[in-house]
Amino acid sequence: MTDRKTAIVTGGARGIGLAIARRLARDGLRVAIADLDLEKAEREAAAIRSEGGEAMAIRADVTDPAGVEAMVRAVVDRWGHLDVLVNNAGIAGRTAPIQDLDVEDWQRVIDVDLTGVFLCCRAAVRAMLPRGSGRIINIASIAGKEGNPTLVPYSAAKAGVIGLTKALGKELAQSGILVNAVAPAVIETEILQQIAPETVQYMLSKIPMGRAGKPEEVAELVSWLASPACSFSTGAVFDLSGGRATY
Ligand code: NDP
Repeated sequence: MTDRKTAIVTGGARGIGLAIARRLARDGLRVAIADLDLEKAEREAAAIRSEGGEAMAIRADVTDPAGVEAMVRAVVDRWGHLDVLVNNAGIAGRTAPIQDLDVEDWQRVIDVDLTGVFLCCRAAVRAMLPRGSGRIINIASIAGKEGNPTLVPYSAAKAGVIGLTKALGKELAQSGILVNAVAPAVIETEILQQIAPETVQYMLSKIPMGRAGKPEEVAELVSWLASPACSFSTGAVFDLSGGRATY
C-alpha cells in the first residue's frame, strides 16, 4: 500500500472547507474533515469514500486547545502522519458598527478565527517537525488586507492570520514546512447569511470582476499549495479576489 499524504481540513463539513476536502481527496490525499458538527462531517466523509476517496470525520472545536491536540493525534494514530493542515474554520461574527459591539462579539471572532488558527498550527507543527515536511494553508480573507466596515472583529482577526502566516512561514522556512495563506473576497457560501445584506452588497461592489467566487475556485488554489508543485513559496498570501486587492 502506498503511503498516501494526509490532510486535516477544519470546518470541512460545508462551504469552502468541504470543497477543499473533496478536492484534496480527489488529489489522492487521505482527508480528515474536522468540524463542530460531527454528524455532517461523517456524512461528507462517507460521500468522499463512496467516490473512491479516503476520509474520516473528527469532531473538533478549533478554540479548544486539548480538542485540537486530540484532532491531530487522531489523524496520526489512524494514518501515521500529518502532511497538510488547512485552517478553514471561521465565523463572520455580528455585523455592526464598533459602538454597538460587545466585548463578547469581538472575543468570539478572535477566538475562532485567530486563536483557532494559532492552536491548530501549533498542534500540526509539533507533528510535522520531526518528519521535516508539511504544508499549512490558512484561509484568511481579503477583509484582512482591505478591511470591511461593520466587520471590524472579522477584519482584525483575518489581518492577524496574515501576520501569523508571514511570521510562521519565516520561522519554519528551513524546516520543510511551508505556511501560506489564501485571501478570498466574497465566496458563495452559507457564511454570507451571517452578514448584513448591505455589507455583503458593499463587499460585492468592490470586486472589479463583478461577481462572487465559488468554493471550488478556492479549492483549486489550496490543491496547488498543498502539493509538491508548491515548493518555493512560504509566508505568502495568495489573493482570490476578482481583482479587489492587488498588492
Ligand atoms: P461556512 O459558514 O459555510 O463554513 C464554516 C465552517 O466552519 C462550518 O462547517 C462551521 O461548522 C465551521 N466552524 C465554525 N466554527 C468552528 C469551530 N469553532 N471549530 C470548528 N469548526 C468551526 O463558511 P465558509 O465556507 O464561507 O468559510 C470558510 C472560511 O473561509 C472561513 O475562515 C471564512 O472566514 C473564510 N472566508 C470566507 C469567505 C466567503 O465569502 N465565504 C471570504 C473570505 C474568507 P458548523 O457548520 O457546525 O457551524
